[in-house]
Amino acid sequence: MKIICIGRNYTEHINELENEKPDDPVIFIKPDSSVLPKSHPFVIPEFSNEVHHEVEVIVKINKLGKYIQPKFAHKYYQEFGLGIDFTARDLQSKLKTKGLPWEKAKGFDGATLIGRQWFDKSDFDLNNLNFSLLKNNKIVQQGNTKLMLWKIDELIAYISQFFTLKIGDIIFTGTPSGVGKVEENDVLIGKIENQSVFKVNVK
Ligand code: ZN
Repeated sequence: MKIICIGRNYTEHINELENEKPDDPVIFIKPDSSVLPKSHPFVIPEFSNEVHHEVEVIVKINKLGKYIQPKFAHKYYQEFGLGIDFTARDLQSKLKTKGLPWEKAKGFDGATLIGRQWFDKSDFDLNNLNFSLLKNNKIVQQGNTKLMLWKIDELIAYISQFFTLKIGDIIFTGTPSGVGKVEENDVLIGKIENQSVFKVNVK
């Protein structure tokens, strides 16, 4: 199973990190070893003093595919959920400045939170979906999928030009603005519309 992440898919988040708006989706991959085991707290790694939360809508691939056309992309997933792409921002910035790959900053153990709850896409409008992240009961990130630069179907089509999508692969579709540092004892709750999807403690 691989985890494919999209960077810079929401304009406001591009602005807050002072990144350039990309011509094509920015793609990176996290290893499956980065998935935070069920009910485990997120432990801030020793090598970072600035781990950020990035809450993202995620989709689960349920059909093998390559060179998928955008109009057929909807056939390759049925369920979506919510996750966090934890990012050691200090390390990522250092690597970005040097033009080096940023895997260490995003692919470390525990850096991928996959909410346990999955939803059927036929019950929702995936192009107008509200989601949010609460830190210690205060909303810190709020997004709506209608603000994505590339929609889920477009992302699947684009990704599949480079990587064969396999059953069980998960796509992180990018984070809205409001990313910020997590500290010990923080409690993070992710919501889709008004429903809690995950809760994680930071240690
Ligand atoms: Zn992300």
